[in-house]
Amino acid sequence: MTDFPRIGIGHDTHRLGEGGPLKLGGVEVEFDRHLVGHSDADVVLHALTDALLGALALGDIGELFPDDAEENRDRDSSDFVSEALARVQQAGYEVGNLDCVIHAQKPKLSPYKDAIRLRLAELLKTSQAAIGVKAKTGELVGPVGRLEAISAQCVVLLRPQETTASI
Ligand code: MG
Repeated sequence: MTDFPRIGIGHDTHRLGEGGPLKLGGVEVEFDRHLVGHSDADVVLHALTDALLGALALGDIGELFPDDAEENRDRDSSDFVSEALARVQQAGYEVGNLDCVIHAQKPKLSPYKDAIRLRLAELLKTSQAAIGVKAKTGELVGPVGRLEAISAQCVVLLRPQETTASI
């Protein structure tokens, strides 16, 4: 199973509520609204978790971390990514590269994109050069454009782990 690359896709949306801070990609973004959810509602990390799991057909984030489980209340979504990555590694894979799109009408994310890339690289034990982060507005239409929600999409490529030669 581990002799060819695997690709995974993830998507997530959360509603915006009054009051900050906003957490995106494991980074605190200055804003007067936050994402509402059972965990910390970080849409980027949720989409990433689903992409990692999906690449190996290991189910989805809701199966691993139910949103009605007490232990997941207000949970740091970095935990979800780390657990998904552990399963990736157990299966003999590592992250080749990741590409993400964040859909947010506000705030302007360009000052935060590099910090998000760095945090995602740390979480995935890879380099910042392997992480793409792009931001789009909602063009003032739809739930994103009306500032009702923020969405994220991620595509990840997994490659077989490089094995060290044994004697
Ligand atoms: Mg979610």
